Amino acid sequence: WFLSRAKPVIVDGVITKWVGTCTNINEFKNLSTQKDTFLGIASHELKTPLTSLKLYAQVLERMMVKSGDERNADLARKMDLQVVKLTSLISDLLDVTKINAGKIHLNEDYFGFDELIKETIEEQQMSTSKKIETNFDVIGTVFADKERTAQVMTNLISNAIKYSPAADRIIVSSKVQDNNVIFSVQDFGIGMPADKLEKVFDQYYRVAEDQNNTFPGLGLGLYIAAEIIERSNGKIWVESELNRGSTFYFSLPLAHND
Ligand code: ADP
Repeated sequence: WFLSRAKPVIVDGVITKWVGTCTNINEFKNLSTQKDTFLGIASHELKTPLTSLKLYAQVLERMMVKSGDERNADLARKMDLQVVKLTSLISDLLDVTKINAGKIHLNEDYFGFDELIKETIEEQQMSTSKKIETNFDVIGTVFADKERTAQVMTNLISNAIKYSPAADRIIVSSKVQDNNVIFSVQDFGIGMPADKLEKVFDQYYRVAEDQNNTFPGLGLGLYIAAEIIERSNGKIWVESELNRGSTFYFSLPLAHND
């Protein structure tokens, strides 16, 4: 039970009772679990045909290239890119249902942090005309889930690209500080007002509703990123100024290979 809008009833200066609205939140919890179960099943089912669709798009592209039909090859490439976007949205939905059910599993191992940054940037650079500038310090090994860490890096980089439509570059940096590696992505985009900064890591939160028309998204990427980083004993945070740009950071403990 949850008591909301409760007001004390005071008789002779003593609180005799509280009056408010009592709601049985078990019903909400059940609904929320049902919603997550449905989302989990739906996203899983949607992923299978998408895998085939991706394959067909790639086969089509190769066939077009072979026959010298560059215009249709380009269409097939665009189709492939849209399938990748759709797959990533569905993966986010699936991840959220896993997080809410406490079932997200981290496959931890030792890996070179700078190698992973390089690989991730290379991949992201292919899908943007902005210059991804780098600023690396010498970095060591961390003990975390490599694929999930790459997912967080990708999310921060793709957000920096998405939310800075007029800028021509972003800066990805990394350094070591107090036995932690610190990764950051700086953009020169739309930024955020100070009172919204804490909320951006909340589930389904998006800074401005009218953003939905301008920038596509579900408001899940940062929520998932925060869960992954915090479960890996790291921290995630942001500095931002409206209309100037944002810098997102995360830290992970350096591994001691002894
Ligand atoms: P999505 O981008 O799908 O909406 P995220 O969880 O990745 O979801 O981000 C949550 C919200 O935080 C975004 O909707 C946006 O309002 C804000 N945000 C995230 N990254 C940036 C950025 N680099 N610059 C400005 N706003 C950002």
